[in-house]
Amino acid sequence: MHLRKRILVTGGAGFVGSHLCRRLLKEGNDILCIDNFYTGTKDNIADLVDNHHFELMRHDVTFPLYVEVDEIYNLACPASPVHYQYDPVQTTKTSVHGAINMLGLAKRTNAKILQASTSEVYGDPQIHPQTEDYWGHVNPIGIRSCYDEGKRCAETLFFDYYRQHKLRIKVARIFNTYGPNMHPNDGRVVSNFIMQSLQGIPTTIYGDGSQSRSFCYVDDLVDGLIRLMNSDDDITGPLNIGNPNEFTILELAEKISELTGSELALEYQELPGDDPIQRQPDISIARDKLGWEPAVQLEEGLKKAIPYFRELLTSNNAEIFS
Ligand code: NAD
Ligand code: UDP
Repeated sequence: MHLRKRILVTGGAGFVGSHLCRRLLKEGNDILCIDNFYTGTKDNIADLVDNHHFELMRHDVTFPLYVEVDEIYNLACPASPVHYQYDPVQTTKTSVHGAINMLGLAKRTNAKILQASTSEVYGDPQIHPQTEDYWGHVNPIGIRSCYDEGKRCAETLFFDYYRQHKLRIKVARIFNTYGPNMHPNDGRVVSNFIMQSLQGIPTTIYGDGSQSRSFCYVDDLVDGLIRLMNSDDDITGPLNIGNPNEFTILELAEKISELTGSELALEYQELPGDDPIQRQPDISIARDKLGWEPAVQLEEGLKKAIPYFRELLTSNNAEIFS
C-alpha cells in the first residue's frame, strides 16, 4: 500500500507534460517523468528536479518500460505540425508502439491509464461543434495523417485493451492548447504569432486567416485531465477537453498584436495541406461528467503566456531556438 500515488507521465518534459507534472507533484504524488527530449526540454522541468518525489528518466516510449506505477498519463508525442511532420514514421511509431507499450505496462501493473488524444481525430470536421460521437473526416494518406491516424489507432488500442483486458482507461480528446513552456519554434499558431509580434516581424497567416480554432489555456486543460483520471471507472471517454470559444486566425493575430503592443503587419502564406477549416469542441460531456469547464478566456490566457515568450527572447537562450 502506497500513501502517495506513483504516477508516470510520458512526455513529461513537454509543454503540457511539464504543467501536469508540476500540478501532480503539488498534490502530493510521486512522479516518474519519462521523455526522449525530442520536443520537450529539461528547462521545462528545471524547478522540479531537486524534489525527491520527482524522478526524470530519458526513455523513448516506442521501447518497453518496466516500472511499478499506479497511474499513467500517456502524453509522449510531438504535437505541432512542424515537429510531427519532421519524421512522420517516428510520429506514427510513437503513437502506436507507445500506446502498446504503455497499455502493456498498465496491464501488468493494473494501473489506470489516460491517453492524450486530440481533436485531430475529427480531421477536417463536417459537423460543428464536434461531439464525441462524430467519427471524423480524416485523410489517411496526407501530411497530417501520421499524427491523426496514429492518434486514432492509439484510441482503438485503448478501447481494445478495455474490452479485452478490462483495463481502466481514460481517453481525452484535447483541443488547441497554449501557455508558458510551449516551444517557441514549434510552428503552432499561438507561439508563432507571439514570437513574431514580440520581434516586430510580420505575422504569418496561412491561407486567408478565416479558418478557426478554439484555444484552451494550459491550466484548464491540466485540470480537465486530472479530473478525468480521478473520475469513476465507467467514465472512459473519449471526452473533449477544450475551450469552446472560437476565433478565426485573423482575430487571434489582432488580439496578440493588441496585447504585445506591436503594430499588426501580416504576411499571407499558402495554407498547408489538410488544414482544418474550423474547430470547436462540444464539452457537454466534460461539463456533465466531470463538472469541468475552462475558467481562463483567451485574453487572460494570452496575458499569462506572453511574458514567458518575452523572457525567452530577453534571455537569448540559443539552445531553445534551435
Ligand atoms: P510537446 O511536443 O511539447 O510534448 C510532447 C513531449 O513528448 C515532448 O516532451 C517530447 O520530447 C516527448 N516525446 C515525443 N516523442 C517521444 C517518444 N517517442 N518517447 C518519449 N517521449 C517522447 O507537445 P504538447 O503540446 O505538450 O502535447 C502533449 C500531448 O498532448 C501530445 O500527446 C499531444 O498529441 C497532445 N495534444 C496536445 C495539444 C495541444 O494543443 N498542445 C492538442 C491535442 C493533443
Ligand atoms: N497558422 C497560421 N500561421 C502560423 C501558424 C499557423 O496561420 O504561423 C494557422 C494554421 O494554418 C492553422 C491554425 O493556424 O489553420 C492552427 O495551427 P496550429 O499549427 O497551431 O494547430 P492545428 O492546425 O494543429 O490546429
